[in-house]
Amino acid sequence: MILILKSNVTDEQVQHVLDRVESLGLKAHLSRGTYRTIVGIIGDEEKLRALPLHALPGVLDVIPVLPPYKLASREAHPRSSVVEVGSAEDCRVKCGGGHLALIAGPCAVEGWDQMQRIGRAVKQAGAEILRGGAFKPRTSPYSFQGLGEDGLKILRDVGGEHQMPVVTEVTDPRCVEMVDKYADMMQIGARNMQNFVLLTEVGKTDKPVLLKRGMSATVADLLMSAEYVLSQGNPNVVLCERGVRGFDAKVTRNLYDVAAVAAVKQLSHLPIIVDPSHATGQPALIPPCALAGVAAGADGVHIEVHDRPEEAKSDGAQALLPDQYAKLVIQIRQLATLLTDSNAVDEGATQ
Ligand code: PEP
Ligand code: MN
Repeated sequence: MILILKSNVTDEQVQHVLDRVESLGLKAHLSRGTYRTIVGIIGDEEKLRALPLHALPGVLDVIPVLPPYKLASREAHPRSSVVEVGSAEDCRVKCGGGHLALIAGPCAVEGWDQMQRIGRAVKQAGAEILRGGAFKPRTSPYSFQGLGEDGLKILRDVGGEHQMPVVTEVTDPRCVEMVDKYADMMQIGARNMQNFVLLTEVGKTDKPVLLKRGMSATVADLLMSAEYVLSQGNPNVVLCERGVRGFDAKVTRNLYDVAAVAAVKQLSHLPIIVDPSHATGQPALIPPCALAGVAAGADGVHIEVHDRPEEAKSDGAQALLPDQYAKLVIQIRQLATLLTDSNAVDEGATQ
């Protein structure tokens, strides 16, 4: 931690700052320049974070030297993490570690037939993890809220039939136990990214968590939310970029932040996937944005697919048809191969 002191700081104030730091058992290094005096503090930064150092007389600014998301940060954990989704030996899917995880399915589980048709179609197209919401966080209380536990059972059955692990959203801390029972991965949606009680509850399980970026969350906010889950002992967090609120919703719905994908790769060891469906909301924009996410280094792609979008109970307008999805999977795989090959050439050149 670095404290920058005010230009008119008095000797008494400097001494008070040094005494305060040393009373915590930390070492303070004072350096006096012509215009500024700086105090460098060595020791457990967490101890200092808890203190209102800004409130010490004579302190102008407090600059942490470590990120506050210490478990999520790449500094603390230089090797990229790999999160495995699914418990059955024959259908475990890696997020990270060079594997591109393909997640697809309808926005909501609407019934057994619908899930069965779409599950079969996305599996045939190459999807590896089946998605479907049973608890839908809707803007309006009058919109379809999901089938609840019945929906979870359908998702579980259809996933089992097609040998696909399943991911579904959990919206309420009281439902974590129930969702954990049926799902291979629990999704925390954008609207709940900072529901700290919910994050704490999923952190107490060991189930993979798909943590979506909140609508107005910074990358640091997203990583702090991941920290909530990690700090409870659950290391299986996969981040998801799904667009943040912008200023041109009519044309692109959200601002799809591919730069955040590349930035997260620098800042954190956690895998990150992209969701161009919720980011853009339009079938025409989804394939190019999916490919952009892969090019930026995403570890997976999450796409909503429906075979009868006009009958969908939620997000029908953004669903890709199964054959559009199948075409996209081919393009994603081609791009991923290209990137892997060129990375191998780069690594060869630097050896
Ligand atoms: C969803 O996955 O269906 C969903 C509601 O996503 P988000 O939380 O990103 O809006
Ligand atoms: Mn949706």
